[in-house]
Amino acid sequence: MAASLMRIGGKVGRQLSRSWSVCQVGLRNAASQSARDAAAEQASGLGMPFPPLQTFSEEEGMMMDAVKKFAQERIAPFVSKMDENSKMDDEVIRGLFEQGLMGIEIDPAYGGTGSSFFSSILVIEELAKVDPSVSVLCDIQNTLINTLVTKLGTEEQKEKYLTRLSTDTVGSFCLSEAESGSDAFAMKTRADKHQDYYIINGSKMWISNAEQAGVFLVMANADHSAGYRGITCFIVDRETEGLHIGRKENKLGLRASSTCPLNFDNLKVPEKNILGKVGHGYKYAIGMLNEGRIGIAAQMLGLAQGCFDQTVPYTRQRIQFGKRIFDFQGMQHQISHVATQLEAARLLTYNAARLKEAGRPFIKEACMAKYFAAEVATLATSKCIEWMGGVGFTKDYPIEKFYRDCKIGTIYEGTTNIQLSTIAKHLDKQYDN
Ligand SMILES: Cc1cc2nc3c(=O)[nH]c(=O)nc-3n(C[C@H](O)[C@H](O)[C@H](O)COP(=O)(O)OP(=O)(O)OC[C@H]3O[C@@H](n4cnc5c(N)ncnc54)[C@H](O)[C@@H]3O)c2cc1C
Repeated sequence: MAASLMRIGGKVGRQLSRSWSVCQVGLRNAASQSARDAAAEQASGLGMPFPPLQTFSEEEGMMMDAVKKFAQERIAPFVSKMDENSKMDDEVIRGLFEQGLMGIEIDPAYGGTGSSFFSSILVIEELAKVDPSVSVLCDIQNTLINTLVTKLGTEEQKEKYLTRLSTDTVGSFCLSEAESGSDAFAMKTRADKHQDYYIINGSKMWISNAEQAGVFLVMANADHSAGYRGITCFIVDRETEGLHIGRKENKLGLRASSTCPLNFDNLKVPEKNILGKVGHGYKYAIGMLNEGRIGIAAQMLGLAQGCFDQTVPYTRQRIQFGKRIFDFQGMQHQISHVATQLEAARLLTYNAARLKEAGRPFIKEACMAKYFAAEVATLATSKCIEWMGGVGFTKDYPIEKFYRDCKIGTIYEGTTNIQLSTIAKHLDKQYDN
């Protein structure tokens, strides 16, 4: 895998002496051809009838190279401090916007990069290798917020919000409440209609990036008599009177990513800020989270790979009993086992992303990818600490942070149990006939 990345991405990377923002022009031109077509074309050029799953288009390779460089130069120096202070550095967020990484699939007409879903997945993975908190900021923006506004927005909404989301405004996705987590559609937040506006009352919990967000996509029930079929998606600007952002949670991991409760106290939202149709919010949330899960799988995959990449070199240098600890068979078997799990997680994740991009059914595969990648991240980070011995347990190395950061993969955007239940639902249907 690394070799093919280096080969495809490396070649492109060497041609690039420009910054990522400059090379977006090239990406815009390339974006008209689907990533899958490009990958297939590339593979057929190599005499292969079907491209291996880890074949990347030129655009994708270029994206990976540029993000890798960006993450090393402009994120890595801040990671430890951001974790310690529980605060994302403004400079890091500014960098993500400058590089076009907050509007990856947004049409260039609205200031976006005009690239593909698969490219977003690769970006999320690359960022997570360095900092999973930065990765989730980029993930939510691209796979949930931008996609919802792009798919459902009126021209006026797109003009107003996509231009901001691609250039300087972070978005938050607000579904969960204190009493409705896995059972998200049991939400209590309500929206009552008055002339040409709605009044929203209620609260949300666990809202990622709320500290930085300038715009919130809020799910609220506009018709309680219809049950979940009343759930509607509203676009809420940060400055809206009645929106209160609570103190951020003090978390085990992903500490640089803000997670806050929100309170809506007679929040007045104009009717024109409804995204999509009244009562269709539950459909939009389900649809987006299905896609979003591939993003979380990529985050977990990147996190596990980043941790592994930091650890294996140590095992090749550390001498005990007169030889490298890597040379003990007991170590080699464990390292090979984790490397194989990582490869499997990557294949599941890329397959789900390629299926989604090809317009084929992908929900079961997305759940499998998220479930499995979170398990692999848990295994890999735990093993990496053990392979490093005592130093792995200290903050002198980033391994303990990856270990803390990975736990969220089994919780958000649907817990592991919820992924397994959805997989089972699909299997049940599959065996109907
Ligand atoms: C750091 C962080 C960031 C988050 N970011 C966001 C965000 O940006 N926006 C947002 O809307 N939400 C966000 N969330 C919320 C997240 O999606 C929920 O925490 C998650 O869906 C689980 O809900 P819960 O915490 O209420 O757990 P619960 O639903 O109470 O689950 C507790 C346990 O019960 C199990 N369980 C529940 N129902 C079932 C069932 N039917 N079958 C089997 N087991 C079941 C679960 O698997 C879990 O093990 C975030 C959460 C965290 C911690």
